[in-house]
Amino acid sequence: MNQDQCPLCNSTANHKLFATNGYDMLACDNCELMFISPFPQSEKQRFQQVAANKLADITVIDPEHYSIAREIYYQELFPLVKPAFQKAKSLLDIGCGTGHLLTLAKQCGIKQCDGLELNTARATYAREHTGCDIIEKPIEEFQTDKKYDVITLIDVLSHIYSYDKLFVAVKSLLNANGLFVIKTGQFAAGVQRGSVFDWEVPDHLHFMGMATSDYIAKKYGLEIISQEQVAHADELYTRERFLTKGRSCKRNLIKAILAYTPFAIKLLKWQYLQKHGRNVFSTVIVLQNKKDNQRI
Ligand SMILES: [Zn+2]
Repeated sequence: MNQDQCPLCNSTANHKLFATNGYDMLACDNCELMFISPFPQSEKQRFQQVAANKLADITVIDPEHYSIAREIYYQELFPLVKPAFQKAKSLLDIGCGTGHLLTLAKQCGIKQCDGLELNTARATYAREHTGCDIIEKPIEEFQTDKKYDVITLIDVLSHIYSYDKLFVAVKSLLNANGLFVIKTGQFAAGVQRGSVFDWEVPDHLHFMGMATSDYIAKKYGLEIISQEQVAHADELYTRERFLTKGRSCKRNLIKAILAYTPFAIKLLKWQYLQKHGRNVFSTVIVLQNKKDNQRI
């Protein structure tokens, strides 16, 4: 693949937005996907690049702490995801982590819930705490005779190397009229490097622009049922979020100090909005499988 070719639509028409961590961030002029350049030439090269860029400060959170962080996270997110669970009898969560969404799905009455998780410690934790089948395989290599009413992909899309492989796999696992729920970041034109604290590239490979979901639905024969956007500024600058632990110990400490400083978070939010406005969103997209309309 040409290094500056869009990983979603293959167009080479794009423009540079900014540079970060030794990579250019390009925006595709056709489907509006933002992607890093140079884009890895293979899945293997991608793993090597990610390994080479790991910051010394970053630690992998143990499953117990990760699980607590996810519980807080899902208190905000779950109301946006729940409507897709209403009539479902089976669910697959791709990148299920410690399994919190699987537990919530079971509480909604979904009997058959499975998860895919590559981190062994988290997969073990999820197995023990949910009783669900947790398979330690990437979605592209997951083989089963089962079909699912709902497949969820929460904060995983930007790490996926091949859109085509992902969507071929998801479509083969979805029932006719099944739902594919994606939670990911979405960016409006005018987004700057400083709009996001850390783009974490090349761990993240690409990001959706405002028109990208329409392109995805058309390309892969899916229909957008709903698309809910929450502005980054409104989501991020809350006390709960500042007290939620991330991967960086140093950043966790700074965030905790700010959370206990009167008006600090309000001031930071005001400063952020003055500079960047609302052009960074967390988006939950619900896509429906249209069996007769596959274009891959
Ligand atoms: Zn494109």
